[in-house]
Amino acid sequence: MLTNFRTALSHKTHLNSNTYLYHFDLIEPKEIIFKPGQYVMLKVPSSKGPVSRLYSIASQNTVTDSFDLIIEIVPGGLASNYLFSLSEKTEVIFQGPAGMFGLKENEKEKIFLVTGTGIAPVRSILISNIKDQISKLQIKNQKFNLFWGLKKFEDVYLLNELKQWNNETMKQFEFKICLSREQNLEMIPENDKKYFELGHVNFCFEKQFSSDLNSFDFYLCGGRLIVESLKQFLLNKNVPGENIIFEKF
Ligand SMILES: Cc1cc2nc3c(=O)[nH]c(=O)nc-3n(C[C@H](O)[C@H](O)[C@H](O)COP(=O)(O)OP(=O)(O)OC[C@H]3O[C@@H](n4cnc5c(N)ncnc54)[C@H](O)[C@@H]3O)c2cc1C
Repeated sequence: MLTNFRTALSHKTHLNSNTYLYHFDLIEPKEIIFKPGQYVMLKVPSSKGPVSRLYSIASQNTVTDSFDLIIEIVPGGLASNYLFSLSEKTEVIFQGPAGMFGLKENEKEKIFLVTGTGIAPVRSILISNIKDQISKLQIKNQKFNLFWGLKKFEDVYLLNELKQWNNETMKQFEFKICLSREQNLEMIPENDKKYFELGHVNFCFEKQFSSDLNSFDFYLCGGRLIVESLKQFLLNKNVPGENIIFEKF
């Protein structure tokens, strides 16, 4: 049974040219219980009645009185236009939470292959697990590897957060940001170069991991076509289908 949430936009943060982080405070009910990886359905007002658009929750699941969304504004898009012109304190209706994308409970090493705003549910999964484990002072002996595809260096956001998790977990969380439309990494500060690669996510992943992919679980998220091609890429490498968990936007 889905719940209707009355919320208010508390603030939005510009992340890159067309991507924003939206922070919504709950008005009624005052609490949202969700599994990291789930989405909410935004109700976009229209002349023919509310129209739904799905957005993955991007925040930690122990914060229950508000949530974050990471949203790419698509030119001419119905929800995009609505969200872009939304002013702070405006009431916004969501339904949810829903969806099956999330961590499988096992000891396997986890590989996240995501592109663009596909980082949203993965941020929730990572922040919820890492913060939970750090607060209990027990980083489980489990590795999380993120490969995040963006086009250009100017598109990058959340870098400090990812670096912080990398430090806090003593490198049990590692990440590479894969830039598909840069010719070189010259513009990146020397200390940060190790977090970047040139090329698409599958290429960056292949550079680092070449054999025995059976011991991993793979989590894919991003645009429909990209997720389908990443899934095929893994199946071609004989990764069993049950080890590939995905969310298509
Ligand atoms: C499970 C799920 C979770 C999702 N989570 C997120 C999320 O966390 N963040 C997020 O930004 N989006 C997310 N999406 C996508 C989101 O639901 C909308 O589809 C997207 O915001 C476009 O909606 P719109 O109403 O603005 O555009 P529409 O009015 O639906 O489309 C307008 C035009 O833009 C095209 N278009 C739609 N999306 C894109 C795109 N990404 N790039 C280029 N053209 C496009 C359409 O084909 C159409 O021609 C998710 C989708 C699903 C299914």
